Amino acid sequence: MAGIAAGCSSKKNPFEGYAGDDVQASGETVKLLSVDGEVIEIDKAFLKPVPYVPPISNSEARKGIEGKKFVMVIDLSRCKNVKACQSACNHMHHVHPGQNWIKILAMQDADHEAPYWEPTTCMHCDEPPCVKVCPVDATFKRQDGAVLIDSDRCIGCRFCMAACPYSTRVFNWGDPEVPKEIADQPYSCETSLPQKKGTVGKCDFCADMTRKGQLPHCVSACPNGVFLFGDENEDSVTNGAETFRFSQLIKDKAGYRLMEDLGTKPRVYYLPPVNRNFPFESGLESQEESDKKYNSK
Ligand code: SF4
Ligand code: SF4
Repeated sequence: MAGIAAGCSSKKNPFEGYAGDDVQASGETVKLLSVDGEVIEIDKAFLKPVPYVPPISNSEARKGIEGKKFVMVIDLSRCKNVKACQSACNHMHHVHPGQNWIKILAMQDADHEAPYWEPTTCMHCDEPPCVKVCPVDATFKRQDGAVLIDSDRCIGCRFCMAACPYSTRVFNWGDPEVPKEIADQPYSCETSLPQKKGTVGKCDFCADMTRKGQLPHCVSACPNGVFLFGDENEDSVTNGAETFRFSQLIKDKAGYRLMEDLGTKPRVYYLPPVNRNFPFESGLESQEESDKKYNSK
C-alpha cells in the first residue's frame, strides 16, 4: 500500500496489508511502538480507534467486588430539589427521555406536617423481591450489595417491576437514543450501557464507578451534599466533601429505611428532614424549571 509512510525500523511495517484500498494517506504521520518494541511511523489515515472492551467479564460483573458492602445515605434535611443528581444520572446512563432512575418526590406525611423533598433510587435491597421473581436470572444481587440487571438476559416480562415495592424500575419501550460510540460498545451490566429495547432499567449504584473506587454520579453532582455513599464494612460514608462514620450517623440522626416492615432490607438509608437547610418553597422554582426542561424535550 503506497500510502503507508516508511517506518523508523528496518522491519516490515505491520500495518501494511491491513489498510483498505479506499483509505487515502493523509500525509500526517505518528510514531508508534510496535509489538516488537520498535518505533514505527504510520500515516494517521490508517489508524483505527480501539473498540471499547468492558474491563471485566460478565461473570465478574455478576459477582461484584469482594469485601465491599456498599451503602447509601440520603439526607432529607439538605435536599432543595435542585435535581442535579437526576440530571447527572440521566446523562451518564443515557436514560430514555421522559424516564428517570432517580425521582425527587414532594412529600408531606400528614396535613399538619411540613412538606419536604425525597430523592429515591433503587434501594439495592438485601432481600430483593425483584430478584426472587425474575424467571431468567437477569436481575441479581451481588456480594457488594448492588442489585443489577443483565439486559442480555432480560426477556422484558416485567415481573420485577410488579414485585418492586419502591416502583423504581422503568421499561425501555423504544430503542435507546445514544451516540454511535455508545450504541456500538459491548453491553456491560456494570455501566447498564447500551440499554436495550424491551428490557428493564434502574439505578445501578454506578457499579462501574465503584469498581474504580469513585463515587456514583448522583453523589458527586449534588451541590448540597444530600447523598452519602460508602462501604458498610468500613463503616464510612462520604459525599466527597464530608465523611462520616456510617453507624454513628444513622444512630445520631435517627436514620431509617423506607417500608422497613416489608423485610426487603434496603441498602439506602434516609436521614429525616429536620432542621432543614432550605425551606421547601425554595425548591418549587427548580422543580418548575426542571419540569419545563423535560416537557420541552
Ligand atoms: S428497590 Fe426494587 S428494584 Fe431495587 S432492589 Fe429493591 S425491590 Fe429490587
Ligand atoms: S423484566 Fe427482565 S429483569 Fe425483570 S423479571 Fe423479567 S426478565 Fe427479569
